[in-house]
Amino acid sequence: MSGETVRWVDSHCHLFAGAETPGTLLDRAAAAGVAWLMCPGIDLETSLQSRLIAGDYPDRVIWAAGLHPHDATNWADQGARLSALITEADAIGECGLDYYRDLSPRPVQRIVFREQLELAGSLGKPIIIHCRDAFTDIYEDLETAGLGEKAILHSWTGGPKWTKRFAALGVTFSFAGMVTYPTADTVRRAAAVAPPERCMVETDTPYLSPQAHRDLPNEPAFVPLIGGVLADVWGMDIAQAAATTLATACRVFGFGDE
Ligand SMILES: [Zn+2]
Repeated sequence: MSGETVRWVDSHCHLFAGAETPGTLLDRAAAAGVAWLMCPGIDLETSLQSRLIAGDYPDRVIWAAGLHPHDATNWADQGARLSALITEADAIGECGLDYYRDLSPRPVQRIVFREQLELAGSLGKPIIIHCRDAFTDIYEDLETAGLGEKAILHSWTGGPKWTKRFAALGVTFSFAGMVTYPTADTVRRAAAVAPPERCMVETDTPYLSPQAHRDLPNEPAFVPLIGGVLADVWGMDIAQAAATTLATACRVFGFGDE
């Protein structure tokens, strides 16, 4: 790697939910070469926590406000305050559809997802999307919304076919620890057909620890383990994969813009 500095971005980590304080997690992330981090909320309370953390580390952490599909029924209570908070946030999310766990009724999930997509369109902000067993409906809504690379499919697990279809919409993919699991060949085949210049790396801290640390809570310092697998899949060296995914995160999220 000829001595150049390798710098990564963690495009999705819930720093408020980590096993340790954000400060400790950020120290270890810095030592691992993680330059910037995106901290998305999952509801009103955690979106406010994300704003606080980003305020404490303005040169390293940006934040997003949104309502997770599991809690979509809370939009009735939280929607107005979340919509106001979203106008201040760097991005919207995480939001989306989860037809695997179905913790909120699907029609409610859909309405609340569309509300947040509309805000993304009207405010011109990136939106972080959770998609579990809901590819058809997310595809339909993103095709209508036309957000291009500002639509970020987080912790992407779609197979190669869906990856190609979504790639044709110009979306951004974010790959998490699953890509390191021996059983997750589908995710690696998805990464292989995703355009590297439209991809980011995330930990989804504290969930989905990469294979080498599956016994531990996940943390941003593990980003290079996930990025290393992407580098293999893309036939790049580590520095090239880090630079490519960092450039995507900077473009889509505006890291480093003052
Ligand atoms: Zn998440």
